[in-house]
Amino acid sequence: MKKYDVLIVGGSSTGCWFAEKMAEKGSKVLVIEKQMPDDVSRSYDIFHMGEAEMERFGLDMLDENDPVREFRFESSPMISPYGTYYKKGGYSPVIGFHKHDYIMLMAEKAKQKGAEIIYGAEFTDFVYDANGKISGAKYMTADGEKTAYAKIVADCSGIPSVARRKLPDSSPVCNFKITPKDIFYVVLYYINYIDKNVKPREYDGFFMQYKAWSAPAGEGYDAILGIGGSYSYEYAEEVFNSQYMKNVKYPEYEVKKVEKGMTPYHRSVYSFVDDGFIVMGDAACLTKPTCGEGCTSSLVQAEIAVDVISTLLREKLPLTKDNMWSINTRYMKAQGKDFDFMRPLLMGIVSLDFDEAEYMFANDIVFSEELFGGMEDNNLKLKGSDIAKWLGKISAAVAKKKIRTTSIKNIIKGLMRAVEIGTLYDNYPELPEDFPEWKEKADKKWAEIGTLAETCDPEILERLGIS
Ligand SMILES: Cc1cc2nc3c(=O)[nH]c(=O)nc-3n(C[C@H](O)[C@H](O)[C@H](O)COP(=O)(O)OP(=O)(O)OC[C@H]3O[C@@H](n4cnc5c(N)ncnc54)[C@H](O)[C@@H]3O)c2cc1C
Repeated sequence: MKKYDVLIVGGSSTGCWFAEKMAEKGSKVLVIEKQMPDDVSRSYDIFHMGEAEMERFGLDMLDENDPVREFRFESSPMISPYGTYYKKGGYSPVIGFHKHDYIMLMAEKAKQKGAEIIYGAEFTDFVYDANGKISGAKYMTADGEKTAYAKIVADCSGIPSVARRKLPDSSPVCNFKITPKDIFYVVLYYINYIDKNVKPREYDGFFMQYKAWSAPAGEGYDAILGIGGSYSYEYAEEVFNSQYMKNVKYPEYEVKKVEKGMTPYHRSVYSFVDDGFIVMGDAACLTKPTCGEGCTSSLVQAEIAVDVISTLLREKLPLTKDNMWSINTRYMKAQGKDFDFMRPLLMGIVSLDFDEAEYMFANDIVFSEELFGGMEDNNLKLKGSDIAKWLGKISAAVAKKKIRTTSIKNIIKGLMRAVEIGTLYDNYPELPEDFPEWKEKADKKWAEIGTLAETCDPEILERLGIS
C-alpha cells in the first residue's frame, strides 16, 4: 500500500505548483490528473501572468526565444465604453505563454523535485480511516480503480471541484456547485487586421462595461479580442456582437481562430481546510474579481498552505482543520478580504449604462487612473479622499442629468456593501469554533449582495431565453 504525505487532485497550474513546492520541502507527493499528458490544459492556448507575480512565486519566465514564451507587454489601459478615454495604470509588465506547454513545464519541475504524477487518473471519492477521517482517495485509471493513502487530499480540480463537492454539509469548506451563474464564460477571438499598417498594440485595453478586452495573441495573430459573460458562451458572444463591436471601432479584421473556456466568478470558499483536506485554485474560487484570471492569484493561498502544511508535517503534527486554520486567517488578510471587497463594488460600477460610464471616464469619476489603472493590477487603491472627490462630481453630474439617481444608488450600495464585506472579513474567526457564527453572517451578507450575473443585460437574457 502506497502512502503519501500529500495527494493532489488535478495537475494544472495550482496542482503542479503546490506539488513542486511541497516536494521541495521534503514531502512525499502524488498528483492524480484526469487527462493524459497531451490533453492537459488545452481549452485555450495563450495565457499571461504578471512578471512581478511570477518572480514572487518562482515561476519560470523562460528565455525570450523559448517557443513556450510568446510575448511580453506592459500594462493595458482601462478604456471607456465608446473607446474614447484611456486610463493607464502603473508599469506592470506581463508575459504571455502557451498554456499547455507551460503547464507541462510546471509538471516537469514538480517531478524533478520528487513529486509523482499519474495521468489518466480520475478522482472518484475519498477513502476514510476507522474514525471517519479522510485518509486518501480512490481514482479510476484505464486499469481500473486504485486507492492512494495520504495525510491530506488537496483539491486542485478547477471548476468541477470534484473532491470539495463530496464533503458533507457539516464541513466548514462549502460544498457548493459552481453553477453557470457563478462562471465567467470566456470567448477568445484570435484576429488579424486586414490593413497591415494597423498597429495592434494601440488597440489593447480592457473594457469593464462589456467585460471585454484586446490583448496580444502571439505569433501568427495580431490580437486576441476576448469577452467574458455569465450564464453561457452565447451570452458572452451576444454582448460581443451587439454591444462591444457596435460601440468600439476597430479596423477591419478577420477571425482566424476562436477558443472558449470557463473561469469561476464567485466569492472564495470561506474555509479552505477540513481534517485531512484542503481546496485550492479555481476549485476554491480564487480568481481575480476584475478579470477572472487565477493562475497567480491562486498561489497567494498556495504559498501560505505550503508554509503551514510543511511545518506541521515536519513537526509530525496531524493535518487537522484546527492545526491548519491559520491558512484561512492568513489568506483572508493577504488577499481574500481585498478580492471579496471588490465584488459588490464592481457590481455597482458595471450596472452603469454606457453613456453614464463614458461621462464618468471623461470626468475621472470612479474610472480614474489611481483606482482602475490597468487590468493586471488587482489592488483597488480606494482612498477616502477619492470618494470625497467623486461625491462632489457625482452631485454635479446628477444635476446635469448625466447620471441617473438609480445608478448613483447602485454605486453607493456597492460601496457600502464592499465596506461591510471588508469589516466582516477583518473579523474572520481566529478559531474554528467561532466559524459557524461568522459563516451565518457572511451567508446573509452574500445573499443580499447576490452575484455579478445579476448585472447581465435583461434584454439579451430574454433574447437567449435565459431566466
Ligand atoms: C479563456 C481563458 C483565459 C484565461 N486566461 C488567463 C490568463 O491569461 N492568466 C491567468 O492567470 N488566468 C487565466 N485564466 C484563468 C485560469 O485558466 C485559471 O484560473 C487557472 O487555470 C486555474 O488553475 P487550477 O489549476 O486551479 O484549475 P484548472 O486549470 O481548471 O485545472 C484543474 C485540473 O484538474 C483536473 N481534474 C478535473 N477533474 C479531475 C478529477 N476528477 N480527477 C483528477 N483530475 C481532475 C483537470 O483535468 C485539470 O487539469 C483564463 C481562463 C480562461 C477560461
